[in-house]
Amino acid sequence: MFNTILIANRGEIAARIIRTCKKMGIRTVAVYSEADAEAPHVLAADVAVEIGPAHVTKSYLDQDAILAAAKKHGAEAIHPGYGLLSENSEFVHRVEEAGLIFIGPRPEVMELMGDKAQAREFAENAGVPVVPGSDGPVADEEAAIAIAETLGYPVLVKASAGGGGIGMNLAKNEKKLKKAIKTSVRRAESAFGDPAFYIEKFIENPRHIEVQVLADNDGHAIHLFERECSVQRRHQKVIEEAPSPAASQFEGLREAMTTAALALVNASKYTNAGTVEFIVDGEGNFYFIEMNTRLQVEHPVTEFITGVDLVEWQIRIAAGESLDLKQEDLSIDGHAIECRIYAENPDKRFMPAPGQITDWVQPEGPGIRIDSGVTSGSKVTPFYDPLIAKLIVHGADRQATIDKMKSALSFFQIGELTTNREMHITVMDEEEFRAGTAHTGWLEPRFK
Ligand code: ADP
Ligand code: ADP
Ligand code: MG
Repeated sequence: MFNTILIANRGEIAARIIRTCKKMGIRTVAVYSEADAEAPHVLAADVAVEIGPAHVTKSYLDQDAILAAAKKHGAEAIHPGYGLLSENSEFVHRVEEAGLIFIGPRPEVMELMGDKAQAREFAENAGVPVVPGSDGPVADEEAAIAIAETLGYPVLVKASAGGGGIGMNLAKNEKKLKKAIKTSVRRAESAFGDPAFYIEKFIENPRHIEVQVLADNDGHAIHLFERECSVQRRHQKVIEEAPSPAASQFEGLREAMTTAALALVNASKYTNAGTVEFIVDGEGNFYFIEMNTRLQVEHPVTEFITGVDLVEWQIRIAAGESLDLKQEDLSIDGHAIECRIYAENPDKRFMPAPGQITDWVQPEGPGIRIDSGVTSGSKVTPFYDPLIAKLIVHGADRQATIDKMKSALSFFQIGELTTNREMHITVMDEEEFRAGTAHTGWLEPRFK
């Protein structure tokens, strides 16, 4: 096992990774930007190294600075968290060239899945159902029009390098398609430096369901059931839960989706933790959309229902241990829900709302978990993702968990900062949410 790990991230996820390292007796090295000097992840680590100014390109994305910090403080491995460098295969190569271990999958499979158009083709060849759409990337506008006509409108134009809901645009007819391509290409170029795009049939009001997987280096792979993430804004998740209410509504769906996810893992020789994402239509048909080759924001709901520490397994697999969790030993214990607490204003089109936290009083108790990157006195700056904390609740069944979440949210005080906390309370009371029928287009029109 490693003696020292560097965490190349910030905020709640850096603090969460440090917690597991402490449990495992591993020394931690944090990195931070000038803007994060007093952040909880800095205080929690054994060693903390300032790596540059606030802007991510000058700090958290500065590979040289991160590798230098790792060398200087004797780190043997680097955990990338999510976002930032977590899906950057060039970084993985550089980590390995420096003689260190990257806690995540191999760079080849990261590249394969990182190109979403290519990942679709690979999944289809592995026998996994994909959303009807283009075979690989689309060459130009003319080719796009031909494909859209075969598929039938509406279609979605998606950036091949996409992530975080960026570079995705809906088109209801040919004229809109031309516009959607221009917008996607422009966004993809500026966000990812890659203009490639592909086309998918737009599935009306789908549910988002994803399967958590773990695989070791000896070819053992397991799934840890599914999560549902249908409550979204701007194609981004805000509430997630496990198990999925939709997977329980359609007979055989859970079994079919977990089998498909493992088929993809085996075909791609995937290792470490990953998530296979699907959308599910009103008839219970499921379609692969992408694979995320990293730890996911919403992983705690899976940890609650399975009792498995996913970060611990990421580290153990990276250290060469084989997976001694057996599929038949895993089962679903109760229900878990996560509410992402964002510093943003739901009444102003979910615009980020930076500020300072004057009071922070958090709920506590059995089955209540808070993964937070802030505390009383913390400044929420405009430089980073406005996710400040996640409230995760575990209960005996879905209804009890919703009630528990509502009271935990009501107790939570985040003084003087605009957040979406009250929006979450409202959602917990909504009939469709309580019935477990909310789809991915459900939330947004309610808060605009
Ligand atoms: P999930 O882990 O559920 O997929 P998100 O899709 O919200 O969660 O993405 C995880 C984190 O990574 C978020 O902080 C998000 O802003 C960020 N992120 C993901 N992909 C990208 C990307 N391609 N460009 C910028 N940020 C991204
Ligand atoms: P990202 O890489 O940004 O996470 P995804 O491909 O995972 O993008 O899709 C994000 C969300 O966009 C999905 O959860 C879903 O709400 C919506 N979406 C994606 N593809 C489709 C589709 N073909 N039809 C309808 N909605 C879709
Ligand atoms: Mg996704």
